[in-house]
Amino acid sequence: MNFEFTAEQTQFAAQVRRFAREHLAAGALKRAHDPRFPFDVAQLMAKQGLMGLTLPPSDGGQGGTLMDAVIAIEQVAAECPRSADVVQFGNFGPIRTFAEYGTPAQKAHWLGDLLAGRMVMSLGMTEPDAGSALTDLKTSARVDGTDYVINGSKVFSTFSPDAQIFLIYVRFSPGVGGIGSVLIERGTPGFSIGAPSAFMSDEEWCELNFADCRVPADNVLLGPGGFKKQMAGFNVERLGNTARSLAYGRYAFNAARDYASTRQQFDRPLCEFQGLQWKFADMAIKLESAQLLLYRAAANADRGLPSAYETAVAKAACNQTGFEVASEAVQIMGALGYSRETLVEYCMRRTRGWMIAGGSIEMLKNRIAEHVFDRRFDQRKRSAAAAE
Ligand SMILES: Cc1cc2nc3c(=O)[nH]c(=O)nc-3n(C[C@H](O)[C@H](O)[C@H](O)COP(=O)(O)OP(=O)(O)OC[C@H]3O[C@@H](n4cnc5c(N)ncnc54)[C@H](O)[C@@H]3O)c2cc1C
Repeated sequence: MNFEFTAEQTQFAAQVRRFAREHLAAGALKRAHDPRFPFDVAQLMAKQGLMGLTLPPSDGGQGGTLMDAVIAIEQVAAECPRSADVVQFGNFGPIRTFAEYGTPAQKAHWLGDLLAGRMVMSLGMTEPDAGSALTDLKTSARVDGTDYVINGSKVFSTFSPDAQIFLIYVRFSPGVGGIGSVLIERGTPGFSIGAPSAFMSDEEWCELNFADCRVPADNVLLGPGGFKKQMAGFNVERLGNTARSLAYGRYAFNAARDYASTRQQFDRPLCEFQGLQWKFADMAIKLESAQLLLYRAAANADRGLPSAYETAVAKAACNQTGFEVASEAVQIMGALGYSRETLVEYCMRRTRGWMIAGGSIEMLKNRIAEHVFDRRFDQRKRSAAAAE
């Protein structure tokens, strides 16, 4: 067992860090408070080879591993937390599921623009009545000749105000086996996008409504029976949320450490007070242990999709750590940490969201408990007949 990066990984990390320092660090504060997707950053990253890191060269990717993509998120977030969203989009988001399962024609149509940072994709899974109970989703896809007719609505989709293409989970028929997904472009007749609402993080999302929205059968990404594959692809997205949570926690930790080293109260730097030293020690323990879980999930996936269990353990640990550390950093930096002049409060607000998004901490713990007891725990109420 080896806990060090390889020589190539060390070199890659240094290269990405240099790029982020030179091109992204200066605008970090402004970017964090702009809800629009930073297409300029996406195009810059495309030129730098930071999009499609894990995709094969035949798809326009770099042929790297999931660990490379994790390293890229960490190094970018250390200089500009908001720009790490672009690494997420270009490597971990729905683009990854799309690249894994899309047909050659679908990829030829959209993948080039996505990887070049000219277009962003949004994922529509959650519905007003289907959040954690995702398989209750009602958005339907009814076959009509060579088309599908889509009806239903989606909420909370990241990048929805800016996306041109949407990966939408739909129901072709009843039951989990009836769930699949379709690709729908902004502007398709019958597809309307509501006014933006804002999360606590200031990120915006729009309600997506489908009223007899007609798409050709060629736009089906995964047909009936595709749900398991979609969730396998979604574990990559989860790892991106995991990596960003931890990276934002570390950003806040570093900012608080620098502050405590220089800020004087009672004629001494803050770092000389034991009450604060122990906070830093606890934060370091949490960051270091969560990082090992993240690296295990990513390294074991290599060029494939990560294990559901290892992803759940890593995500729960990093989501919790990222938020707790960022919140503690705000405390250590006092009123300045609580102000929008620093990015520490931003890291706290963003990490809070990842405790809910993409599998809440509670739902991840349900998954972990199933592994512990080696049995499935159905979260649904048993029917009267089944209970007898
Ligand atoms: C920042 C952010 C970004 C998001 N991006 C997207 C996106 O891009 N695309 C998309 O489709 N959706 C997105 N979502 C939505 C997200 O997937 C849902 O919020 C999530 O699945 C939880 O659903 P819910 O909010 O409806 O909460 P609910 O399912 O109503 O749950 C409410 C609370 O009850 C808990 N709970 C529910 N069931 C159980 C159970 N069985 N056991 C224990 N606790 C339980 C939950 O953990 C939660 O704390 C995003 C959300 C956030 C916050």
